[in-house]
Amino acid sequence: MISNCLFCRIAAGELPAHRLYEDDHIVAFLDLHPIRAGHALVIPKAHHVWFEDLPEDLATRITTCAQRLARRMKTLYGVERVAMFYTGIHVPHAHAHVVPMHHVHDVTSQAYLSAGSDDYATPPQLPASEMEEIARQLREG
Ligand SMILES: [Zn+2]
Repeated sequence: MISNCLFCRIAAGELPAHRLYEDDHIVAFLDLHPIRAGHALVIPKAHHVWFEDLPEDLATRITTCAQRLARRMKTLYGVERVAMFYTGIHVPHAHAHVVPMHHVHDVTSQAYLSAGSDDYATPPQLPASEMEEIARQLREG
């Protein structure tokens, strides 16, 4: 545990949170600044900064918990889809966001907003040769 880490302290029970689920390895709780009501965070109890460094079993536990929350959110809020994403922006302790999507822009990228905030624009396609090169680079290593 990292003593100055907000999420380590929540996991240890030192700070309050609106807990939704807990086991020996993970905790789910409501985000204090929700995009939509029900916006939840799922974190490992152990301090890991980056989601890509999570052990596979821990990443699976987080995803499985997010799936359960997503099914519950669909029933509760009547939404068609629930988003799950890691951003790592505010707290350097890996956390998955789980957000009931009432609107397509609830978790959207600036790339979709080129036609204005009320519109939805598909980003332009890249040339096939560039896509092939990107894929080749991503497959390496
Ligand atoms: Zn931490």
